[in-house]
Amino acid sequence: MALKIFLDGKLVPESEAKVSVFDHGLLYGDGVFEGIRVYNGRIFKLPEHLDRLFASAQAIMLNVPMSREELTKACRETCAANGLRDGYIRLVVTRGVGYLGLNPFKCPKASVFIIASTIELYPEAVYRDGLKLITAATQRINPAALSPSIKSLNYLNNILAKIEAVNAGTVEAIMLNSEGYVAECTGDNIFIVRGGKLETPPVSAGALNGITRAVVMELAKQLGVPVSEPNLTRYDLTTADECFLTGTAAEIVPVASIDGRVIGSGKPGALTLKLTEAFRKLAQTTGTAI
Ligand code: PMP
Repeated sequence: MALKIFLDGKLVPESEAKVSVFDHGLLYGDGVFEGIRVYNGRIFKLPEHLDRLFASAQAIMLNVPMSREELTKACRETCAANGLRDGYIRLVVTRGVGYLGLNPFKCPKASVFIIASTIELYPEAVYRDGLKLITAATQRINPAALSPSIKSLNYLNNILAKIEAVNAGTVEAIMLNSEGYVAECTGDNIFIVRGGKLETPPVSAGALNGITRAVVMELAKQLGVPVSEPNLTRYDLTTADECFLTGTAAEIVPVASIDGRVIGSGKPGALTLKLTEAFRKLAQTTGTAI
């Protein structure tokens, strides 16, 4: 069935949801976005996603032409218009229409669109058997060049690493920063379990401040598991007891091997499974009602 898309203040049929070839979101990847899950008729962690969206916009001097309240209402209405109770929302703010030069200030008005649709998940086998990861040769972009904390429309750095993963016959790749420390994966954060403790790279290593990452850290603390954010090397990962990825679309994905090295038992670890159960329970029972 054709979707109804929120575009600049109106719900329009999918066939009419079009942006200009002069939009700097398209010409330069100049814009920001969020990917948000809908579970059981509720939008999961919407305030946190809006916080990150406004922070990304602030970092690139992009004036979001809607308030938090208006964006919340628009997300709810777009879900309702599409009868969505479980799925995925893509909220995008582009720099808007301008001329061919880079200057963003010559684009008078940012454009906002919201797609509320079903979600393409990793195959069930990935959650049962674990993911095989590789380390990409493509480095995560240096924060001094472009902060990975900005969730911008320019994902080429991640796409280059994703190509390496697909070429190697898998779906995700670990990205290291320019110092050789682990940053994150192409669209997910990474965690390890060592000696009963949970560890994940710090945001300063080039990781996105993931919403799922924050939820998992909080759930671990509630379970009495110590959590820290040290710099991690590939050695730390390949010698860990457990490893898993987190992301809005992926939720919590166990990792079976990295560059051919089997992690732990090679099966989803005990803490990974415990956190997955706690996460799913939280996702089903909290959020902004549609
Ligand atoms: N890192 C990158 C590069 C991502 O694109 C994403 C997905 N948005 C994540 C991590 C996970 O973040 P979140 O849990 O907020 O979806």
